[in-house]
Amino acid sequence: MTSQKQNEPKIVIISGYSGCGKGTVIKRMMDKYGNYAFSVSMTTRDPRDQEIDGVHYHFVTNERFEKMIDQAGFLEYAGYTDNYYGTPAAFVHENLAAGRDVLLDIEVQGAMQIRKKIPEAILIFVSTPSAAELENRLVGRGSEPPEKVSKRLRRAVEESGEIWRYDHFVINDTVEEAADMINGIIREGASAPLPSREFMETFTKELIEINERREREGK
Ligand code: 5GP
Repeated sequence: MTSQKQNEPKIVIISGYSGCGKGTVIKRMMDKYGNYAFSVSMTTRDPRDQEIDGVHYHFVTNERFEKMIDQAGFLEYAGYTDNYYGTPAAFVHENLAAGRDVLLDIEVQGAMQIRKKIPEAILIFVSTPSAAELENRLVGRGSEPPEKVSKRLRRAVEESGEIWRYDHFVINDTVEEAADMINGIIREGASAPLPSREFMETFTKELIEINERREREGK
């Protein structure tokens, strides 16, 4: 099918558990394939060590964020583990108008707001191959103290119940394959089917066990 719509620039939402490596996959895909624009979100959370203001996020105060809400400056925004995160609307519109596919790294509540406003947006969920691997990556990147890691792993249980609302499901086993797969979905109309119920039941069960173990360990 070669409808005109297929050649129009797309809004692509890439969600995934904190620590699943979606940031790395997005970066690889942009470097390898080009003509993508990454929407830099605004957030009230503190920058991590390697993060640069204006590159990874626009880091702002609560007051500034709330002012932007009042001015209707966000395409979507949401609260996630005690902080605000939002997508500035102007950047998205400008880049679509310039013919670039726009990538949004946002969580589930924001993804659903976009789906309502822009039904043709493509929604992709990125996962690790297993729950144990998610904990490994989140702990391994060393960017958060144990209690924040635990908070993100608890949030992952909720997110695992929302996967059914996405169009595509990509397992980030190797960055290269995941980047190729996502580019294929966007540029070639490829499909990455949602997981089986069994896969998600096992994943969620393991995640809950990990959370219980961490709680016993006082983390
Ligand atoms: P992190 O603090 O690990 O950078 O991000 C936490 C979560 O917030 C991730 O799931 C990320 O996708 C999501 N996020 C980042 N920017 C936005 C945004 O602009 N809007 C929404 N709704 N979620 C975002």
